[in-house]
Amino acid sequence: MRVVITGVAGFIGSRFTEIMLERAEQMDYDDIVLLDALTYSGRRENLVNALLDSRVTFVEASINDKQVTDDLLRGAHAVVHFAAESHVDNSIDGARVFYETNVLGTQQLLESAREGGVERFVHVSTDEVYGSITEGSWREDHLLEPNSPYSSAKAGSDLAALAYHRTFALNVMVTRCSNNYGLRQFPEKMLPLFVTNLIDGKRVPLYGDGLHVREWLHVDDHCQAIMLVLERGRPGEIYNIGGDTELTNIELTHRLLKLCGQDDSMIEYGTDRLGHDRRYSVDWSKIKNELGYEPRVDFDGGLEGTVQWYHDHEEWWRPLKDRRG
Ligand code: NAD
Repeated sequence: MRVVITGVAGFIGSRFTEIMLERAEQMDYDDIVLLDALTYSGRRENLVNALLDSRVTFVEASINDKQVTDDLLRGAHAVVHFAAESHVDNSIDGARVFYETNVLGTQQLLESAREGGVERFVHVSTDEVYGSITEGSWREDHLLEPNSPYSSAKAGSDLAALAYHRTFALNVMVTRCSNNYGLRQFPEKMLPLFVTNLIDGKRVPLYGDGLHVREWLHVDDHCQAIMLVLERGRPGEIYNIGGDTELTNIELTHRLLKLCGQDDSMIEYGTDRLGHDRRYSVDWSKIKNELGYEPRVDFDGGLEGTVQWYHDHEEWWRPLKDRRG
């Protein structure tokens, strides 16, 4: 059976691909198609091991390319869809490509999936579609109140995915995960940006008062949850994915400073990000109760391992930082 995975050269998609290759035999996937446009955040080097696997075909193309998506999805059993423009700051600087990729690209994939007879389609989304919450946690039926062009484009793609279920009976599942951390995250995002700055003896730029709260989950736990949804999720359902590790940005910064042997003098407070969400928090009891999901990676150990990975893999991140100045 064929499974098509999009956005495989990025942070989460590349890790999911590795985990899929370990599970593929059990799941009867012997034709694993990896689709990625290799934008600035999609790195071929993230796939070196996967490309050695004889079951894998890599296609460099956009999810907006109808001919490609029609060809690849015809007769495929499943699609796991990660491809997206993913960085909020970039969406503030230039929003259009976010709607082109995240909304129209997703709609193109859904259409090809419908025409091609795809049996399971996992649309990977984010908790940021819910907006910001002062107290408590969002359940899956919470109102969508996205605040950035990124999160609004993801919300648009979620609604398109659910509409394809209701209108065309495509077996779509939507996942909404909290902030991920782990290896191979592009060094524009807070955690790898801060760690790589500290390795270089540079200060770390903290937005506003640093009291914004984020919930951190190791990328392996996110991928494990997506695998459960792919195998056993119910069509038309939304599954929140989290782990209850809430930290303010300043708390996370202190941990990173400690792990890198530095002190508070390395913090550079700046103006706040436009439209900056104050707090995210997901209620992930549904995926826990229905599919038996439990995060496995302990935060302290996971964070230490992640910081160590950036220390050990300068050859991976330095060209990416240099490229972006
Ligand atoms: P990333 O930026 O590291 O990777 C995105 C990948 O998509 C890249 O390989 C890029 O080349 C590819 N891509 C972009 N436009 C494309 C197009 N038009 N056609 C084909 N490929 C294209 O992002 P990430 O952090 O790995 O996020 C992956 C997915 O997970 C996204 O959908 C994101 O919204 C979601 N998500 C991310 C987080 C997080 O904390 N990073 C949390 C929850 C959900």
